[in-house]
Amino acid sequence: MTITEPGLSVFETVESEVRSYCRAWPTVFERASGSWLYDERGRGYLDFFAGAGSLNYGHNHPTLKRALLDYIDNDGITHGLDMSTTAKRTFLETFQSTILSPRNLPYKVMFPGPTGTNAVEAALKLARKAKGREAVISFTNAFHGMSLGSLAVTGNAFKRAGAGIPLVHTTPMPFDNYLGGQVPDFLWFERLLEDQGSGLNQPAAVIVETIQGEGGINVARAEWLRQLAELCRRRDMLLIVDDIQMGCGRTGDFFSFEEAGITPDIVTVSKSISGYGLPMSLCLFKQELDIWEPGEHNGTFRGNNPAFVTATAALETFWQDGVLRERTLVQGGRVEGVLRGLCSKDGKLAKSYRGRGLVWGLEFENGERAAAVCRRAFEHGLLIETSGPDDEVVKLLPALTVSAAELDEGLDILTRSVHETA
Ligand code: PLP
Repeated sequence: MTITEPGLSVFETVESEVRSYCRAWPTVFERASGSWLYDERGRGYLDFFAGAGSLNYGHNHPTLKRALLDYIDNDGITHGLDMSTTAKRTFLETFQSTILSPRNLPYKVMFPGPTGTNAVEAALKLARKAKGREAVISFTNAFHGMSLGSLAVTGNAFKRAGAGIPLVHTTPMPFDNYLGGQVPDFLWFERLLEDQGSGLNQPAAVIVETIQGEGGINVARAEWLRQLAELCRRRDMLLIVDDIQMGCGRTGDFFSFEEAGITPDIVTVSKSISGYGLPMSLCLFKQELDIWEPGEHNGTFRGNNPAFVTATAALETFWQDGVLRERTLVQGGRVEGVLRGLCSKDGKLAKSYRGRGLVWGLEFENGERAAAVCRRAFEHGLLIETSGPDDEVVKLLPALTVSAAELDEGLDILTRSVHETA
């Protein structure tokens, strides 16, 4: 017998079968504030999912909301393709002075269509154009988006199968620790590059996530990233860091690669860049790579001006000093402590944990167990989702603005849910 929640039927009868999160969280949400979502019956849910990393500053942050409401009230431009607007100018100036200049990153800024996958498509196109080569290296368990170019550098078999055509001109290499430390880092990759008989065409670029979010919260060591950057330099390959999920402060620093001290050639940013959950994405690249012809990559919604307004407000509110970074690292330490406790009982409760900043993964023996934990957490009022090749990792992605009390409450629910489903 199927139990149909009252009020859900239109989602079942009209909306496509492709819907997913609404299946995991079977209620109808109405409003949200900070780290809380409320359904239409008024029940509050603590949000440790944060719009899959799009809500690093929580829902409807009052300062960002005020800036947006004022802008709309003044009849500010909403849709502007890539016309020059005051909102875009202020964003570019603020991004440069707050983020790029202090980090000595003289990147050009490109606005592709406002989704993450669009930034990845732009990055891949640009790398291939710049190098005049088609091959791109990706990593095992990578996720870069659902359009065809991004799928070609994505690992997950289920998502790749959806393409319906061969996904070509890309080669996967082992991500950090994929072989459990049995093989020296990059041994295979370097061998293929130097061997004229390997069958690997000289790549234009390598695309990497510093922490694989969808792939199971696999954290690349800073040393591994430095070796990769050095390999790219030696072998004339562009280094693309996809910072769509791990950027905008998720790991503490604004960019997740800062800890490793590397300077990628191309960086993709999306999700939390608007700060408010509004669609926006950036493709950043070194000045000498700005070889685009005007309009060579475009999109109707690439000038999402309300997103520029909230993005500027977010940079001004959170990135003028190091307070958010410090807070994120401290809060991350609290999460780590709880996960360590859950994994210490001979692996009976959970298998392992990993993470950095405020992104953490708790690995279970299989996807069924991880799903059961998420289901139980939902019943107790906590939103968490799974990731990893078999959905075996419970992913914790609270807003960076989460209070200590909210963090403790969510971690208590997680702990209870793990025990109750053991
Ligand atoms: N790249 C990474 C690392 C992501 O995590 C995602 C989405 O989860 C994407 C790209 C795709 O972004 P979007 O879903 O906005 O197309």
